[in-house]
Amino acid sequence: MYEPKWVFPRTIDDSLEALADESAHAIAGATDLAVRIRADHGGPATLVDLTGVPELARVAVDGDTLTIGAAATHAAVTRHDAVRQRVAVLAEACGTVGAPQVRARGTIGGNLANASPAADATGALAALDAVAHARSTRGEREIPVTGLFAGPGQLRLEPDELLTHVTLELPPPGASSVYKKLGQRKALAIAIASVAVTFDPTACAVRIALGSVAPTVVRAEQAESTFAGRWSGVVGEGGVAGQGCRDEVMGLIEEVAAQAAGASSPIDDVRASAEYRTILVRELTRTALEELCLAEPRVSG
Ligand SMILES: Cc1cc2nc3c(=O)[nH]c(=O)nc-3n(C[C@H](O)[C@H](O)[C@H](O)COP(=O)(O)OP(=O)(O)OC[C@H]3O[C@@H](n4cnc5c(N)ncnc54)[C@H](O)[C@@H]3O)c2cc1C
Repeated sequence: MYEPKWVFPRTIDDSLEALADESAHAIAGATDLAVRIRADHGGPATLVDLTGVPELARVAVDGDTLTIGAAATHAAVTRHDAVRQRVAVLAEACGTVGAPQVRARGTIGGNLANASPAADATGALAALDAVAHARSTRGEREIPVTGLFAGPGQLRLEPDELLTHVTLELPPPGASSVYKKLGQRKALAIAIASVAVTFDPTACAVRIALGSVAPTVVRAEQAESTFAGRWSGVVGEGGVAGQGCRDEVMGLIEEVAAQAAGASSPIDDVRASAEYRTILVRELTRTALEELCLAEPRVSG
C-alpha cells in the first residue's frame, strides 16, 4: 500500500527546504496528482502539501500588475473582482475547469505544472503574456508561461523548483478578452480544442493562444501579426459601424482565424480527429474575434 511521508509547510521557505529533498514532490489540490498516483498504484515517497501556505494562495492587484499565487484555486481566481472585470478570459477559462468540486481544489500552479496542452487556465495565461515565478533554495527565476513546457507533461522546471506565483500586466481600459472551449460535454470535459483571445483596440493587437491542438499550449503568432498589420487600415477612424467596414473586418477575421488554424498541429485521439480539431480552431477563433472586435467591449478597465 502507498503510504507517503507528508510535509505540511506554512511558509514558502519551508516548502523550498522540503522540496530540496529529492524524494519530495509538491502537491496542491491533488486533482491531477491523486489521479496519477491511483493509476500508477504509487507515487513520490514524500509529498509536500502546499495548501497551508497562505502566501501561495494570494490573488492581488498592485497598480496594473495582477499577481496570482500558485496555490490559488480556480474558484478563487474566477471569483476575484479584478480578474472578472479586467481579464475575463482567465475568469472564463478557470470557470470551465472540471466541475465546482474540481475548481474548489484545483490550483493555477497545478494546472501549469501538469503541463497538459489542454489545461484551461494555462491557455488564458499564455494569451495574457503571463510570467511564471519559480523558486528553489538555489534562487529565483522568471519564465514566460509559453516557455514553461517542453511537451505534453514535460515542464521546464527542476524537480526542486516551486512555482510560487504568476504575474501579468492588466490590459488597458477598452481592452477585452474571451475564452472559447469545446469539450465532449459542457461540464467535466477536457477541451477537444480551446482558444484564449485578448483584444486591445488602442494597440491594434490581438493575442491568440490555442489549447489541445499541439504538444503544448501555443500562441498563433502569424495570425497575431496579420491582425496587427491590418486592423487600423481596415477600421479607419470611424470604427466598425459602417457596413462596408464591417465586411472588411469580417474578411480580416476570417483570414486571421485561418492562420490560427494553421498554427495548430493536432493529433487524432479518442476525443476527436486532427481534422476536426483544425476546423474547431478556425471556428472558435473566428467566433471569439467577432465577439471582441465587432461588439461593444465586454470588459473595461
Ligand atoms: C474530474 C476532473 C476534471 C478536470 N477537468 C479539467 C478541465 O476541464 N480543465 C483543466 O485544465 N484541468 C482539468 N482537470 C485537471 C486539474 O483539475 C487541473 O489541472 C488543476 O489545476 C490541477 O491543480 P492541482 O492543484 O489539483 O494540482 P495537483 O494535482 O496537486 O498537482 C499536479 C502537478 O503539479 C505539481 N504542482 C502543483 N503545484 C505546484 C507548484 N506550485 N509548483 C510546482 N509544481 C506544482 C504537482 O507536483 C503535480 O506534479 C480535471 C481534473 C479532474 C480530476
